[in-house]
Amino acid sequence: MLHKNFKNIDRVTYGRGSFAQLGETIAPIRQENQGYFVFIVDNYFNGKPLANRLQNQPEDLVYFIDVDPHEPTTEQIDQLRDEILAKKGLPSGVIGIGGGSIMDIAKALSLMLTNEGSSVLYQGLNLIKKAGVYHLGVPTISGTGAEVSMTAVLTGPEKKLGLKCDWTVFNQVILDPELIASVPRNDWFYTGMDTYIHCIESHYGIRNNAFSLAYGDASLKLCREVYLGSSSGQTPENDDKLMVASLMGGLSLTYSEVGVCHALSYGLSKILGTRHCFANCVIFQHLGDIYADGWKDFMQMLKQHNIQLPQNLSKEWSEETITKMAEVSYNLPFMWHHAFGDNYRDIATMEYIKDLFRRL
Ligand code: NAD
Ligand code: ZN
Repeated sequence: MLHKNFKNIDRVTYGRGSFAQLGETIAPIRQENQGYFVFIVDNYFNGKPLANRLQNQPEDLVYFIDVDPHEPTTEQIDQLRDEILAKKGLPSGVIGIGGGSIMDIAKALSLMLTNEGSSVLYQGLNLIKKAGVYHLGVPTISGTGAEVSMTAVLTGPEKKLGLKCDWTVFNQVILDPELIASVPRNDWFYTGMDTYIHCIESHYGIRNNAFSLAYGDASLKLCREVYLGSSSGQTPENDDKLMVASLMGGLSLTYSEVGVCHALSYGLSKILGTRHCFANCVIFQHLGDIYADGWKDFMQMLKQHNIQLPQNLSKEWSEETITKMAEVSYNLPFMWHHAFGDNYRDIATMEYIKDLFRRL
């Protein structure tokens, strides 16, 4: 078996108030290329105090991007890239300030500034030809692990698939727990549960190992402190923990694999456009027989934070819709293999996967 050989983030700054160090962190990089930075900022911060604390220079370009209408698309990245290059040439770097969506835009943009043609050409593993420009991520909502992962997920005309390679990984991240304080409760729950589910799935499968378990168990412990019991909730102490949990959950799955919930989630997102973290929660509530240990705590967390997930969705779905979703899931064999072992095809048949969708 070939052992994975992973690229990690080059540098990490962590701590309350660390965002104030952004300006000095990027100062040395300003000599590169045309000597300016592109800031990609979640539109939520437009007009908020953070927008005045970006530490941008007059020559920099600042884009506030609304991530709510849809998740990042190939078309959006291509347009942004063309516009930036036409305006000012190759920037010194790209800064992404926001959640998974914004961080994926920053990662993808960094690569597409130096790779010709449409980003559609590069959806997949190791298709990118040249290193991108310097890129730095500042998460403002925690859970997806996008701050540490080697993929920038884009929805294209045909597939929802990441630009995945070593160069995708951020050169620097700044983890400032103060920035996640304003996340609305539902998003705080869904996105945080993405990490929780990453760790459960990474743990319960054949690819787990001492390395992935060390990160995963540490992350799970933090998740339980944040979401279970009398000290749970959106407090500064818990925000400190959740940021670290997200990063470690991402590292755990990097060294292992995700499983059944993510395999189904990709089907749901691809066919119905359901957002990643929310889709995971909608699905995980029905996987008690597959992930018994993790499921019990998950149900308790839902109750404790009074989160109402939709029920009986599949009643409205045609056989054709269910088949399409199941096809997407079926075509993620590494996830099923991890979850069920070498004989996974005997278990995870199309019929079995369709039945899992019928549970929703
Ligand atoms: P998001 O970026 O989609 O944001 C969710 C919501 O929270 C938005 O409305 C946003 O405006 C808001 N928000 C963000 N920060 C806030 C703050 N501090 N205060 C108030 N509101 C805030 O959220 P996400 O769940 O982090 O990301 C989901 C995206 O990540 C999807 O597009 C998914 O495809 C992608 N993803 C990527 C990876 C990866 O490894 N690259 C992994 C999982 C998911
Ligand atoms: Zn996930």
